[in-house]
Amino acid sequence: MIISIASGKGGTGKTTVATNLAVSLESPVQLLDCDVEEPNAHLFIRPVIEKTEIITTPVPEVDMKKCTLCGKCNEICQFKAIVVIGETLLTFPELCHSCGGCVEVCPEGAITEVGRELGVIEWGHRDGLEFVHGRLRVGEAMSPPLIRRARKHTRAGMVTIIDAPPGTSCPVIASMKGADFVLLVTEPTPFGLHDLKLAVGAVKILGIPCGLIINRSDMGDNRVREYANGQGVPILMEISFDRRVAESYSRGELLVEAMPEWKERFRSLFHRIEEIIPRRKS
Ligand code: SF4
Ligand code: SF4
Repeated sequence: MIISIASGKGGTGKTTVATNLAVSLESPVQLLDCDVEEPNAHLFIRPVIEKTEIITTPVPEVDMKKCTLCGKCNEICQFKAIVVIGETLLTFPELCHSCGGCVEVCPEGAITEVGRELGVIEWGHRDGLEFVHGRLRVGEAMSPPLIRRARKHTRAGMVTIIDAPPGTSCPVIASMKGADFVLLVTEPTPFGLHDLKLAVGAVKILGIPCGLIINRSDMGDNRVREYANGQGVPILMEISFDRRVAESYSRGELLVEAMPEWKERFRSLFHRIEEIIPRRKS
């Protein structure tokens, strides 16, 4: 079962939910931190990292001795990553989506592919919990290929919890696609509501069942609850503002370490998700 934890905006408590849910379950669990621009689940999980893999993506390299400047590569590239201007051919590797189209169409066989570094995938464990995260290279913008590589570590027969990046753009879709359930985390504020609407819209397009956690639930107003009820999105947990929660977070501690009674709440949350998935699929 794959559960993706997402939020329309950052700072809502998404990683708190993902990490605490992961360590609370009794079944075999893996946690994939796909928030590759700013992974921080490891700060709370404190895993033993066993392996690091550098991830590259193929980008074109042109042999100008063979190139006739015919412009066919320029025509097929949808991303302006290879451009012929007059007597010059330019490549912009950071814009390349590695589709391989230019290599295919080049009549002179002038284009080969070379690897451009995107970042690293690291994996390890904490007790029985498998841990994987991606770290995007500083200055790199192309995060979906790195997220997809992190997700390749998904193993059947385990509960896979994905900490998705915030927002609703391509990296988030790469982190939610194929999930059995999306758990959205929000706050009961106007900003929270605005971004929640975008997130619910994205999840509905993907056709994945979803539920909501309201963090700092005793602040703000009731509009998030009204919206969720109107959309048929079940509210599965509310986390009220508690100074001890904020303090444990600032110390890099898991909530369930500081307040063990939360473990049972996260287990109940998981059981509610288990109940919802087959009901929606039938
Ligand atoms: S398709 Fe090949 S030969 Fe034509 S401009 Fe591009 S690299 Fe040069
Ligand atoms: S691989 Fe695709 S995206 Fe990259 S330069 Fe070639 S055509 Fe453009």
